[in-house]
Amino acid sequence: EHLCNKIAAGEVVERPASVVKELLENSLDAGAREIRVEVDGGGKRLVRVVDDGMGMGQDDAFLCLERHATSKIRSDDDLFSLRTLGFRGEALPSIAAVSRLTLRSRSAESLEGWEIYAEGGTVKRAGEVGIPVGTTIEVRDLFFNTPARRKFLRRDETEIGHIADIVTRLALAHPEVQFSLVHNGRPLIEAYRQTRLSERVGALLGRPLLGDLIPLERDGGEGLRLHGLVGHPGVSRSTTGAVYTFINGRYIRDRVVQHALLEGYRNLLEKGRYPVVILFLEIDPALVDVNVHPTKHEVRFQDQKLVHDFIVVAVRDILRPSGW
Ligand code: ADP
Ligand code: MG
Repeated sequence: EHLCNKIAAGEVVERPASVVKELLENSLDAGAREIRVEVDGGGKRLVRVVDDGMGMGQDDAFLCLERHATSKIRSDDDLFSLRTLGFRGEALPSIAAVSRLTLRSRSAESLEGWEIYAEGGTVKRAGEVGIPVGTTIEVRDLFFNTPARRKFLRRDETEIGHIADIVTRLALAHPEVQFSLVHNGRPLIEAYRQTRLSERVGALLGRPLLGDLIPLERDGGEGLRLHGLVGHPGVSRSTTGAVYTFINGRYIRDRVVQHALLEGYRNLLEKGRYPVVILFLEIDPALVDVNVHPTKHEVRFQDQKLVHDFIVVAVRDILRPSGW
């Protein structure tokens, strides 16, 4: 069982940012309204995620460290129509297998919370603690028991960059949730609860940018919808780093979508430059297949051309309102 978890960990946990992603998705699934991410040493020393979600009862707190004990999925078919981000009950056991993990959680039904400490997936201590409703998970010394993997982790600056990316993506997709990220005691991201995407974008990517973003909203019929913010070609970047695309609420970097975006910007950007784009594509889950993999979700549209052309035209129309 432990070996199994260690192997699974290789799939789910690549670096501290993957830990942050899994923990944040769990917090969102738990209905958190405020999520704090505290990180030390690029996440190699510590990743702590504190949420005010529904928490776990005693049984769940123990079970969630066991592999597949909590799997929500019955068939892979309609993964995309699942409301929750988690689906395999694999993340926490995998993370626990390669770290020193402390879980503290309390549900509204109980007066006390539970604290569980596990090393390399083995529970060492557990007991009651007085805490507010919600969950805190601390992951220390990632890969302490798999030195070969630890060796592959990069400088703190690189790892925290990946972590900030993850927080940014999830925070863009959930403006109604408050997010913060602190590294070595220094606040890096502070995004208060917002109702509008533009306010959230301002908080995450910088207020001055807002004047150069054009709101896009377009209905393609048959459940196809596109909305978000499209950057003026003048605010282009030298990397794709400012292109955020979401499909049915999940951050997904899809080839077809990327291509369509650039096609929409054709001849407007200097060579080698990329736009600033935050776009949400909504599509009938029945019209898209998801390649189920714990870390990267790949999608395949049933009608690639339809989706592609819909995006091209939407972007083109907003950038060239007069139709030139
Ligand atoms: P999955 O998210 O795929 O179900 P995980 O291993 O990520 O699997 O989590 C296992 C289970 O532990 C979740 O299904 C949920 O019931 C519980 N859980 C994990 N994190 C939290 C959290 N922050 N708040 C409440 N419950 C949680
Ligand atoms: Mg999960």
